[in-house]
This record gives sequence, structure tokens and C-alpha cells, in this order.
Amino acid sequence: MDYLLLLECLAITVGGGLTVYWLPSLALDWLYYKQRAEHAADWKLQPDRWAPKRLLKEERKLGTINMTAASVVSGILFYHVQTGGFSMLYFEVADYGWAYTIGSSIAFFVVGDLGLYWAHRWMHRKGPYRFMHRVHHRFRTPSAFTAVAAHPFEILTFQAIALAPIFIIPLHPGGVIAVLLYQHSVSLIDHSGVRFGMLFPWQGPAAFHDDHHVYFHVNFAQTIHWWDRMFGTWRRGELSYGEGSFVEDQQRESKLPLSYGQAAVEERCLARLEKKRSRRSLAKPEELSA
Ligand SMILES: [Zn+2]
Ligand SMILES: [Zn+2]
Repeated sequence: MDYLLLLECLAITVGGGLTVYWLPSLALDWLYYKQRAEHAADWKLQPDRWAPKRLLKEERKLGTINMTAASVVSGILFYHVQTGGFSMLYFEVADYGWAYTIGSSIAFFVVGDLGLYWAHRWMHRKGPYRFMHRVHHRFRTPSAFTAVAAHPFEILTFQAIALAPIFIIPLHPGGVIAVLLYQHSVSLIDHSGVRFGMLFPWQGPAAFHDDHHVYFHVNFAQTIHWWDRMFGTWRRGELSYGEGSFVEDQQRESKLPLSYGQAAVEERCLARLEKKRSRRSLAKPEELSA
């Protein structure tokens, strides 16, 4: 075993991992939460809600532990490939040509993202949610640091799904790294709490995942938000959601297709009626004076 090479591999992945986690997250924090805190209504997705200091500290600590652990796994994998261990990675584009290299990288992104959608949706079933995924959902006003603040098992599950294809189909490491960096950037932006718009048509605005933290069992996609449209988990304005309204309950309780449960619909209707009633009672004095 070449311990020096192993150390080099770990230094590259852990150093790189912590840099791509901390640098952009700190930059977003400084640019918005420090510099423009007084003008929160102009940029903040939840302008009236601010995460308590205790949670801000916690997400940074948890995120750093997870990023280090995930980078150690990547470092060991890097060493394994460097020393001739099995994988389907190829290093010369000429081996398969540009068309295959670009096409397979896109397929790696799309199929991987679909896998991440279903893994995330599975984590919203009662058991896995209570066991691990609720750790990530403690952060209801997320920041870029929240992106990897989760139960370590969850991070390892996502990492396993993201990296499994390198053992299944021939892929170029350049494409793999580009896709992983792109997905990581999207995750930071989606958790930033800043009103960023859509960069590409397949990628939802930051509000899409911010809503996932506000409404829980809805909007599961990691990058391609079309999955939620396809599989009926896109947040629908006319329905109400909550931490206790799991997709499995929503589907069982509701006879309507793509619905989120009759109880939720009724709750929403009642809330709307209540709103109308209070508006009417507010309008009364004006009506009398007119
Ligand atoms: Zn979730
Ligand atoms: Zn999240």
C-alpha cells in the first residue's frame, strides 16, 4: 500500500471538498446576510424568518463533518482508481470519441438526478424521515451551509447513488467531476435562501427547494425540477402541507390523482374561508361609512 499516495489523494479531495463548501457559502453569507440584512425584502425568500444562531452554528458544524467524511470516501476511491483498481472510468477521450463522452456525461447527470429524486422521495417516507431525513429538515430557513447539513447516512446514500455509475458504464472523469460540481453549486444556490431565478429551463429557481424546507413532503428534485411535475409531487398552491402530511398518507387518503390528501385540501379550504371571514369583518367599518 502506497501511504504517501493515499495521503495525497485524501489531501486533494478533503481540501477540495471543504473549499467548495466553505468558500461559496461564506461569500453568499457575506454578500446577503451581512451586507444586505436591512434590505431582506429585496432578496430573501423568507424575509420575515431568520434562523436562530444555534441552528446556524449547528449546520456549519454538521456540514463540515459530512463534507469531510464524504471527501474521505472520495479520496479512497481516487486512490483505488489511481492504483489500477476496478472502475469503468476512461482517461483518453479518443478511446470512445467526443460524442460518446458528452452523451454519457449528460446521461450520467440525468439518470443520476432521477436516482437522487427517488432516494430523496424515499427519505420522505415515515420511517427513513424520522430516522434520518428530519435532521436536514430542522433547518426551515436554509442557507448555503444547509446544503450538506444532514444525517451522515443520508449524505453517504446520496454519494453512493451519485458515484455508482462509474462502476457500471464507461465514463470520462472530466464529465463526472463537471456534473458533480454543477450539482453541488445548484444545491448551494437552492439552499441559499436568496431569491435566485432559473439558470436553465430544467433547473428550478431557488424558491423551489426553499419551499421544500417550508412545506416538507413536496418538491423532491435535486436539480431537474421536471421530475416533480412528472411524478405528481410539485407543490400546488391550492393545497396545504405540513411535516405530518407524508406522501404515502396523501396518496392513500386521496382519491384524486396527484393530490396531497383530502385532509390537507379541507384544511386549506377552511383556512381560505377563515381568511375571507376576517377580510369581511375588516371591511365592515368602511362599508358602513360609505
Ligand atoms: Zn427533504
Ligand atoms: Zn434541503
